[in-house]
Amino acid sequence: MKDLSNFEDRLKIINSFDGNLVYGAKSFNLTTNRTGKGPSNGLPTKELLKVVQDSQKDRFVRKSIGWVEQKNCVVCNSKKRSFLLNRLGLAYFRCAECSHIYQDPILSNSVAAELYSNEETTTKIYKSDNQQEMDEIKFSYGVDLINSFVSNKNRNSILDIGCGPGIFSKVAFRKGWDLSIGVDINDSYDDISKSSSGFKLVRGNVLDIASLDFNTKFDVISMWSFLEHIPDPKKYINDLGNVLKDNGLIFILVPNSDSLVAKLLREKSTCYNWKHISYFNIKSLNFLLESCGYNCVFDETVITEIGNIKSYLNGKEPYSGELPDKDPFSFIDSKFIHINKLGSRIIAVYKKNF
Ligand SMILES: [Zn+2]
Repeated sequence: MKDLSNFEDRLKIINSFDGNLVYGAKSFNLTTNRTGKGPSNGLPTKELLKVVQDSQKDRFVRKSIGWVEQKNCVVCNSKKRSFLLNRLGLAYFRCAECSHIYQDPILSNSVAAELYSNEETTTKIYKSDNQQEMDEIKFSYGVDLINSFVSNKNRNSILDIGCGPGIFSKVAFRKGWDLSIGVDINDSYDDISKSSSGFKLVRGNVLDIASLDFNTKFDVISMWSFLEHIPDPKKYINDLGNVLKDNGLIFILVPNSDSLVAKLLREKSTCYNWKHISYFNIKSLNFLLESCGYNCVFDETVITEIGNIKSYLNGKEPYSGELPDKDPFSFIDSKFIHINKLGSRIIAVYKKNF
C-alpha cells in the first residue's frame, strides 16, 4: 500500500489514470469520442445548438429563449466581477471577491433538464473503453484516498452523488464500505446491474437532495464532476449537511479554473460549456465549503491534459495531439503541473465541523 500523504507516491498513481499520459492525447481524445464528432472539435455540440445559433457575423449567439440572468457570484453572492470570456455563445465572469468563475446567463431549469435528458456527448465519452479503464483506476485511487481519512471500523456508509454507471460505488463496496449507494438522475445507464447487498444504485433527482430519502446518514459523501453543474452550490452543500453524519467527510472532484490548460486555452477550453455553471479554483472551493461549516483536510490536482497543452504550445489545435518532434517545453511535465496545482481537476476532502 502506497503512502498517500507522500506527493511522489501519489504522483505515480495519478499518472496511471491520466489519459493524455497513458495513451497520448491524439489517440485518447479520438478513442474517447472527445475529438472527431465529440465536444473537443471546436464546434458547438448538438445540445448547445438548441439554445445558440450561428449568426454568421459574430458566430454563435444565444437564442432569445431559455436563458436566465445570474448577476451575483454563486459562491459568495458578490456583484463585483469582471468579464472573462465568451465561448460559443456562453459568457463567463470572474468574481472580484472570491475569484470564482461562473456563467451568466445560465439555462433555465426546465431547458437545462431537457438538454440533459437528450445529452449524448458525455455519455459517449464515459462509455468508451479507454475512458472506463482510466476511470476504474481513478475511482480506486479516490476510495484509497478517502479510506486514508476513515478508519476500518468507521467505514459504514458512503454516498456517491451523480454516480453515472456506479463504478465508484462498486469499488468503495469492494474496498470495505458496508453500505455503498450511488444516486443519479440519468437513465441512460439502465442496463447496469442494480442489485447487490450493501451496494445500491438509485435513480433520483440529485439536483434536489432534500427530495431524496435515504433512510440513513452517511459517513462520506462524494461528488465526482458534479458540483460545477449545480446552479446554487451553497444551498446544495448546506442541504448535504442534513444527510451527512457529524464530522463526516465530503469528497469533491471538479474542473480547476486555475489549471494550466484552462489558463492557456481560454475560449478553446471545452470546460466552458452550457453544463458548467461554476468553474472553481482551490480558493473559491474552500471559500464555499468553509462558509457552510466545513474545513479542508486535503487538496491536490489530478489530470494534466499535457498533450492538449503541448499541441497548443506547438501552434496546433489544442485537442489535436499534434506534438512537435522536439519539445522545447519539456520542463512542463506531470510533476511540474501537479506540484504547482495546475492540473485540470481539483480533488479536495472536507470535514464537517457540526
Ligand atoms: Zn465570489
